[in-house]
Amino acid sequence: MKMKMKVIFLDLDGTLIGDDYSPEPAEKVIDELKRKGFRIVFNSSKTRAEQEYYRKALNVEDPFIVETGSAIYIPKEYFPFTFNFTREGGDYFVIELGERYEVIKKALDELSEKFGLKYYGNSGVEEVMNFTRLPRQLAELAMMREYSETIFRWKDEGFIEAIKSRGLRISKGSRFYNVHGNTDKGKAAHLLLHLYSRFFGDVEAYAVGDGLNDFPLFDIVKNAFIIGNLRHPNAVNINSMEELLEVIG
Ligand code: MG
Repeated sequence: MKMKMKVIFLDLDGTLIGDDYSPEPAEKVIDELKRKGFRIVFNSSKTRAEQEYYRKALNVEDPFIVETGSAIYIPKEYFPFTFNFTREGGDYFVIELGERYEVIKKALDELSEKFGLKYYGNSGVEEVMNFTRLPRQLAELAMMREYSETIFRWKDEGFIEAIKSRGLRISKGSRFYNVHGNTDKGKAAHLLLHLYSRFFGDVEAYAVGDGLNDFPLFDIVKNAFIIGNLRHPNAVNINSMEELLEVIG
């Protein structure tokens, strides 16, 4: 019997990566997933620059989804057929689904005073390090926004409606709110799965996450896992990535 091709979508913060943002604790998990034959697709609110840091540290060379479903980066040699993409960027074909950063920043700049908003675009690197606890090197990579913003501080939840009324979407990650265009992690993953099935035929899809912004992803895969206490009808709760390895056998 031909083995089914397996893809796993992984959230980063609070899922693969712990509170100290170090890639090392994830090495064993990534190696074990590779050994089990998984294609490993990071699907996170993190930027391209941050995800490239973790890809390099963990030797992951599959496509990746940045800034809450805003764009899919596909290494140029990855699929042996042509497909529609938005632009070429370095070694990647990029499929853009979200909104340009300038549009998002402009909307937030107009609301920032009224709602006391702090986000990457109106913070210095020291402030970013304080809000996120990121080390300086990673804070600088996180500030290289292309499609979304992260709200670190607000004084009134009314900003959520104000952002929505401007045609943007807002979703809750493990720590902060993300503001992005009309997309989500599930929409981008669905599109990438379509490319995988053109390549491999039958594809078995897995996903792991810990936040509400992972729910659209859980909706579109057969095997979904939540780290922590949130509940989703299609997902199994687990305590850690190590437990995932036991559960999937
Ligand atoms: Mg998370």
